Parts: sequence; structure tokens; C-alpha cells
Amino acid sequence: MILKIMSLVLAAAGVFAADGLAKTNPNTVTFVGISGFLIEVDGKKVLIDGLTNFTSPEVERRLLAGEPPFDRLDLVMATHSHSDHFKAASVGRCLQNHPKASFVGPKDTADLLSGLPGRIFPVQAVEGQRTVLEVNGIRVQAMPLSHGTPPPGVPGIVNLGYLVTIGSVTFFHSGDIDASLLTPELLRNLGLPDEKIDFAFVPGFFLASPEPPRFLIDGIRPRVLIASHIPLAGQEPLDEAAIRRNFPTAVLFKSEMDSWTIK
Ligand SMILES: [Zn+2]
Repeated sequence: MILKIMSLVLAAAGVFAADGLAKTNPNTVTFVGISGFLIEVDGKKVLIDGLTNFTSPEVERRLLAGEPPFDRLDLVMATHSHSDHFKAASVGRCLQNHPKASFVGPKDTADLLSGLPGRIFPVQAVEGQRTVLEVNGIRVQAMPLSHGTPPPGVPGIVNLGYLVTIGSVTFFHSGDIDASLLTPELLRNLGLPDEKIDFAFVPGFFLASPEPPRFLIDGIRPRVLIASHIPLAGQEPLDEAAIRRNFPTAVLFKSEMDSWTIK
């Protein structure tokens, strides 16, 4: 009886067909560290900001080896070149090991990857515009979003926000953003509120702030917010109570490899 109940539960979860054969996994988001996520929709797999100087050795090993859930990656992306979002050597090795996968990132990240003809898609970002790419059946729309004004003499960095559509699912990853420069108007001019975004990855400290910035609600308008830029062990954790108060349905991952079923 227990076995029967278990198989009914698994069938209900879409994991196994009634005959016991494995079916396509449910659509999921898996946290891989800091702002890194694996997004799986309809069997397509996108890794974004997932290989960095801070990726845990075990997650990196599994990623490079293509162990589930990291088997058959279709697209590897980076929002910007900071070391907590992108590590060229690891991304290069990952692409070598995942021959189907392509890379999309700002030009300064793409320029660090070589020997992968036809698989590297550098984005030449244009302020206030979306750059549209179709890569391996995945629609990517990239838009520069300010990382902040650098101190005098320090060159600025290109940070790309991404709107990604796979089948009927659309998600957004902001990268690192300066909330004071990211107005709802800017995002409205980019057309984001009309996109019916299913879920959006946004730095968690914005979700926790006493007065959450308007761009979250009026500019992105996602169905579900997912906290990104999760502090490392030993760093001050996000204020979970504040996030829950501001956004009761927000997703806050606790540990690497935790996953959330896209609803
Ligand atoms: Zn950054």
C-alpha cells in the first residue's frame, strides 16, 4: 500500500508516468550559489551566473561533470564580469564539457572565452534598448542596467539584465543593480511590466529593505520574486522576516542545490 501511495504521489508530481518510466522533470529553479541559478523549463536548461570564484568545489565539480541536474546544459549566461558572477576559466571548461551549450554575456566576459566557434554570443549592450537573441531555442533579451556609478578613475562595468523566454515561461535576472539609478520609468520604457514575468531574480537586500524600491513592483512586476545575491556562509544573512513581511510569496533559497518548482 505504501508503495502504491508513493507511486501515486510521484505520478502526481509529474516525476513518473503511470507505467513507472521516467518522464520529463518538472520545471524547476535550482540555487547554485550567490546569484547563480539553474533554470529548467520543458527540458531546456539555462545556467546563469553559476560559475564564479566562490562556487563551492562540489557544485563546480558536478557542473563540469554534467551530473544531474546539470546534464545537457543548453545555455550558460553571465550578467557581468565581477568574480562573484563569472569565472572565465570555469565557464570555458563547462562549455567544453557541454558541447550543446552556448554562452551569452557582455562583451568583456565573452572576450575571455576562446576556442568555442559559433557558441559564444557577446552582447553589445545599448542603453535603453533590448538586444534580442535566439540561442538553442531560447529567447534572450538583454538590457544594460546600471551597476552603479564607479568612483573617479575606475572604469564602469557593463551589467546586463536578462529577460529569458522558454516556451510559455518568462523570467528575469537583474544581475547587480543600483536601485537609485533603476527607476520604474526606465523599466517601463523597456516594456518590462507588460511582459508577464513569471519569476524574477533580484538582489535579496532590496526585498528586505524597510521600503522596497518601486522598481520591483512597478517596473518588473513579476508573479514571484526570487532573492539573489545570497550572502556566503559567515556573511551577514538576509533579513528573512523582512522579506516575508514585504513579499510573502518570495522565494528565499537557504542552501546550494535547493530547488523550487516553477508554479
Ligand atoms: Zn557586481
